[in-house]
Amino acid sequence: MSIATLAPAFPERCPVLPEALMPLCEIARNYWWTWNPDHLTIFREMDPALWERTSHNPVRMLEEVSYLRLAALATDVNYLATLQRMVKSYRAYMAAEDTWAKRTMKSYNWQRPIAYFCAEYGLHESLPTYSGGLGMLAADHLKSASDLGVPMVAIGLLYRQGYFQQRLDNSGWQGELYEDSEFDSLPLTLVRGQDGNPLLVEVAMRQRLVKARTWRVDVGRVPLFLLDTDIPENDPIDRWITGHLYGGSTDTRIAQECILGIGGVRLLRQLGLDPSVYHMNEGHAAFLTLELLREEISRGTPFLAAEPKVREKCLFTTHTPVPAGHDAFSPNEMDAFFASFWPQLGLTREQFLALGARRTGDPWERFNMTVLALRYARAANGVSKLHGRVSREMWHVLYPERSVDEVPIGSITNGVHARTWISPLFWNLYDQYLGPDWLERISDPEVWARVNEIPDEELWRRKAALRERLVSFARHRVLRSRRNRGEANERIQAVGHLLDPKILTIGFARRFSTYKRGDLILRDLERITRIFTNKDYPVQIIFAGKAHPRDEGGKRLIQRVVEWSNQPEVADRIAFIENYDAYVGRNLVQGVDVWLNNPRRPLEASGTSGQKVGFSGGLNLSVLDGWWPEGYNGHNGWAIGQEIDGLDPAAQDDLDANSLYDLLEYEVIPMFYDRDEHGIPRRWVARMKEAIRTLNPVFNTDRMVAEYVLKMYEPEHMSAEVRPTLSGSAVAG
Ligand SMILES: *Cc1c(COP(=O)(O)O)cnc(C)c1O
Repeated sequence: MSIATLAPAFPERCPVLPEALMPLCEIARNYWWTWNPDHLTIFREMDPALWERTSHNPVRMLEEVSYLRLAALATDVNYLATLQRMVKSYRAYMAAEDTWAKRTMKSYNWQRPIAYFCAEYGLHESLPTYSGGLGMLAADHLKSASDLGVPMVAIGLLYRQGYFQQRLDNSGWQGELYEDSEFDSLPLTLVRGQDGNPLLVEVAMRQRLVKARTWRVDVGRVPLFLLDTDIPENDPIDRWITGHLYGGSTDTRIAQECILGIGGVRLLRQLGLDPSVYHMNEGHAAFLTLELLREEISRGTPFLAAEPKVREKCLFTTHTPVPAGHDAFSPNEMDAFFASFWPQLGLTREQFLALGARRTGDPWERFNMTVLALRYARAANGVSKLHGRVSREMWHVLYPERSVDEVPIGSITNGVHARTWISPLFWNLYDQYLGPDWLERISDPEVWARVNEIPDEELWRRKAALRERLVSFARHRVLRSRRNRGEANERIQAVGHLLDPKILTIGFARRFSTYKRGDLILRDLERITRIFTNKDYPVQIIFAGKAHPRDEGGKRLIQRVVEWSNQPEVADRIAFIENYDAYVGRNLVQGVDVWLNNPRRPLEASGTSGQKVGFSGGLNLSVLDGWWPEGYNGHNGWAIGQEIDGLDPAAQDDLDANSLYDLLEYEVIPMFYDRDEHGIPRRWVARMKEAIRTLNPVFNTDRMVAEYVLKMYEPEHMSAEVRPTLSGSAVAG
């Protein structure tokens, strides 16, 4: 196989459409459509009810929409004009020769691409192959890599039942719903070999040969290959290896990581690809280093000579600032999967297990995926400056001969894919005021300085419209949940006065795990209730987020929040939206005035949801953790609390909660309601502009991917003349 493998797959199946609408089929099968602003007209307007029912999946939609409706659209000149514009834009995008990467990258070569590995990808709500931040980041990475023209292929797993769907019972306790995805109705193309049969990758484990087929998803110019073991050729147990994301036993987890890492490299070989770089996004993919070693050794290279060759090609991004968050498997667990593998490396069991050991010589030491990744990565990074520092301290144990500062883990701070997260209302505003090429120059502070030319009234009006849309979205979702739970009629009717489109709206959406302190705001129930029920300066908050199915502590946090939201005096001011996903996320980050984030420092490696808020004029109210210490300048949001060394967690929680209340009472709320004679909160709008001006040029994935290219994929740039062509702070630091 050859480079032809990388051209977007022509749709194998295409529903019968009127001739004029045939291009819909092409567009529906590349996730590029999700970040083209015409998609709402093209797909949602086609049939809004069906659009919602299919979870915004245009492939299924084209299968199910009535032919009558299609026939009508085929004669609708406005619709056809929009479709033509979108198709033209898509084809031009796919064919573009003059990309940033082509101008910049020395190793630009689609035959030797960057291979990006991750266990989850959050491309869109229609493809449930993600659980949260890691997947969102990986997807945004691919989208910007595509926009910049970086030769990249991505490898992941296709989960039969995704993560899970969240359903709360009447007491606010989380239940999990597992449903099969219908792969045939998703924009997935089965990858076939030259003989026309599905390409199968084989990995031996548990004394069986496990086979995986591969599905291709197009993310603009970047192909994403997802491995899937659910085929009849496999033992029934092995068919479930790719059943759930982050579910199942430790055995299943190891099996998944074998498929991802070892199977992923074998797939690339079958596709005829010899990547120049293997980027392991988090430790789940680290077994790929073992397969690269095995390849070298099978060619006759001695182990000690194979190691540096592998190291030359591997990069590692770590995302977890707590030791317990890193995958680590016991020697016994490893045996079942690798007993036939280590002889192929010419190693004994002890030598093999030492590759993943934090400390050698302890037979009970667990095999740690981060240790393995660090061992074979040419370079490694954390995802914010603070997280880089924390990671250097945490992994100092592996480099005892060096000082902490010399531990070879740097940092590249996360960003978000602007085109995905920005609201159409603000996109359009930036088109008007930032210049026609603002998206191409997104990392250029000069572009964003023009935000000062936007009239306050204009900015405020648009924010108000987004808040209003969020309120109606939240009501719609809460109504649906209450109906599904069979709640009493009066509870269902009460949704009519849940939330108010005119009042200060706070959003809090994230995974519910204890360190994120989803209930910090409830620490002093009396005080927060007083704040929320103030008649003159009211506040409301919208929550969303899942707890891991086995995290009882996280589920208790959700329950506490729901119990609070049922107190009569605040019931109209608090909403919990079930089943946080990319769509709920977009609505929230676009509609809120304030985004609340209060993790226990320094446990938030980066966080990206607060960065999304900045693109639609929201303000961050956050602990100085993750990315926020790099973003906060005193005028573009607020910083909660302060870190006091050696304070016990409960005292730190008190301190942070009090700081949060003080900020709300004395700064945030008064500023929001301080209106001039036109009803405009001038000081608030000034802060919105300051946030847009200072955060957006930095915390986007175009800047981030460029930084990966220049610092990690092609480090030789670090001294080269290319630096100035990247505007803004892209390569600073
Ligand atoms: C952006 C996003 C995340 C990650 O944001 P954090 O700040 O890390 O919580 C998680 N889930 C969804 C649905 C998102 O959109």
